[in-house]
Amino acid sequence: MVTLIRGGDVFAPEPLGRKDILLAGGAIEAVAEPGRIRVDGLEAETVDAAGKRVFPGLIDPHVHILGGGGEGGPATRAPEIRIEDIISSGVTTVIGCLGTDGVTRHMTSLLAKARALELEGISTFIYSGSYEIPVRTLTGSVRSDLIVVDKVVGAGEIAASDHRSSQPTFDEVARLAAECRVGGMLGGKAGVLHLHLGDGKRRLEFLFRLVRETEIPANQFVPTHISRNPELFEEGLEWVAGGGSVDITVGPEPVPPDPEVSLEDCIARFRERGLPFGRMMLSSDSNGSIPVFDESGRLVRLTIATEKDLFRKFGDVLRKGLLPPETAARLFSTNAAEFYKLGKKGRIGPGRDADLVVIDGNLALSDVFARGKRMMAGGRLLVHGTFSA
Ligand code: ZN
Repeated sequence: MVTLIRGGDVFAPEPLGRKDILLAGGAIEAVAEPGRIRVDGLEAETVDAAGKRVFPGLIDPHVHILGGGGEGGPATRAPEIRIEDIISSGVTTVIGCLGTDGVTRHMTSLLAKARALELEGISTFIYSGSYEIPVRTLTGSVRSDLIVVDKVVGAGEIAASDHRSSQPTFDEVARLAAECRVGGMLGGKAGVLHLHLGDGKRRLEFLFRLVRETEIPANQFVPTHISRNPELFEEGLEWVAGGGSVDITVGPEPVPPDPEVSLEDCIARFRERGLPFGRMMLSSDSNGSIPVFDESGRLVRLTIATEKDLFRKFGDVLRKGLLPPETAARLFSTNAAEFYKLGKKGRIGPGRDADLVVIDGNLALSDVFARGKRMMAGGRLLVHGTFSA
């Protein structure tokens, strides 16, 4: 079975103009001028994308696929993600992580869930570890996880500057970064140390020290949740100015007195400072809990992060013209594919994985293809999880 997507306005992420795209065997076979691709003697499905835009499938590099949280006790452990939640937000690749709880959530279950989602149609990777150091691993060390487990692309999310962290010392974080670097090299992976940042006053102190005091380069690390307050975000901008990359969590719109910096403001500040958008990545933190603590550290409220916010913000960025579509595609897909070295992900071109989203004139999601399989057609979900009705 081959698929021909005809006449869409294609962003690869570079704007290619109107093109036909041929998908076969899970890969993109050809991208060509409309009408130039001929499929004779093969059963082909044709998708009319005229008047629509085609982007690489979104990549979400921070998803609690098993469910995260639990900061309010066992009843607040967030549920597992469903394939429907992922596809209906145009996401075709996720990197799964454990989160706060590395006791009742396990690396083996994380790997099993990643495999399940892969069988249901999307592409998945995972981080070794939960918030704490020593890190929870599959094979005994982050280094060997990176070398022997295909899906492991780094360690994460390891918590720093947060009252929920294991209060790691600088030396512990430096040693872990070395595991990531050498394990990544030997395993042919990015070996990223994906650091969760909390509201703590040390902010990015460890990261600045790591590049100053060790031989490990800035691109071995990515701090996440850095827009959670203005002071942390300002340090994030310094980190980017010094050659680092950042991950911004795209959640519900911040409502005062929530100090979170909106994505609109993050983009504006990057632009003011003349920082490269190639070093900004976005993730949903989906199926993690969003706990709100009062000043004494007591939990007052709890909600759950969802993939929906990622696609909603993608639509906002396009609708409001906050960024050109090609830059938006980088932030929501290509940058993560390149930073985490996710193989043939994040781009539309011959030989790439056939992960695509088609967006209509109203910026609604029309079609989703994951490794060549049509997961959504005309806004209707075609894929259902094993246990979905
Ligand atoms: Zn986190």
